Amino acid sequence: MKKINVAIFNEFFHEQNEERIAAIYPEGIHGAIANIVKNEPDVGDVITATVYNHTEVFTQECLDNIDVMFWWGHLKHGDVDDEIVRRVCRRVYEGMGLIVLHSGHASKVFQKLMGTPSGSLRWRESDDKCLVWVVSQGHPIAEGLGECFIVPAEETYGEQFSIPEPDELIFISWFEGGEVFRSGCTFRRGAGKIFYFQNGHESYPTYYQEEVKTVLKNAMRWVCPYEKKIVYDLGGGNAKPKI
Ligand code: ZN
Repeated sequence: MKKINVAIFNEFFHEQNEERIAAIYPEGIHGAIANIVKNEPDVGDVITATVYNHTEVFTQECLDNIDVMFWWGHLKHGDVDDEIVRRVCRRVYEGMGLIVLHSGHASKVFQKLMGTPSGSLRWRESDDKCLVWVVSQGHPIAEGLGECFIVPAEETYGEQFSIPEPDELIFISWFEGGEVFRSGCTFRRGAGKIFYFQNGHESYPTYYQEEVKTVLKNAMRWVCPYEKKIVYDLGGGNAKPKI
């Protein structure tokens, strides 16, 4: 049985430099995301990388084996190696799924794939309640979520979000201050599927919330290369996807 091989990039700066963030994510945000997916029956390898070791971890051989990559970054986008950015983007075009989280909107990888230099948006930190509305009922990424779920406190993001028109809009979030934001968007680049998800500011325990875990697991399966899922669904086979 072929399984989904997952890579998680997290810059891992806040957790090592701010005690209050380390208290929320003692294993790092990458550790929290790994814990969400690693015991799923259809998940195989789960590897993690940070801004401190990504050039050693993300070899071409490693990336060739990855089906789905999560990307969380905030302050250290500029420290991500340009050759790694090129490799990751090429793998997306070849079919690797990519899930870009929260402030990853400003990562080199996301900007290169979107063609937008800034990915700019409105933001503030004021513990606003966030209502995440499902606007694509029936979409696999929204499975099991109902029509809306509440994140009790989250960094506020608001429009205008400078992205190309998404292929699909899965979630729109409303924040207590009145802002709205396209918080769940899909894109396709070449053979690869991309999902952007807004929630996950480092100072809130967002990645422990059940609905958020559901979103990440659903998204992992949705962005996973089609060939891998077909092989898995048939319960066997070992054909490598031909790109
Ligand atoms: Zn943030």
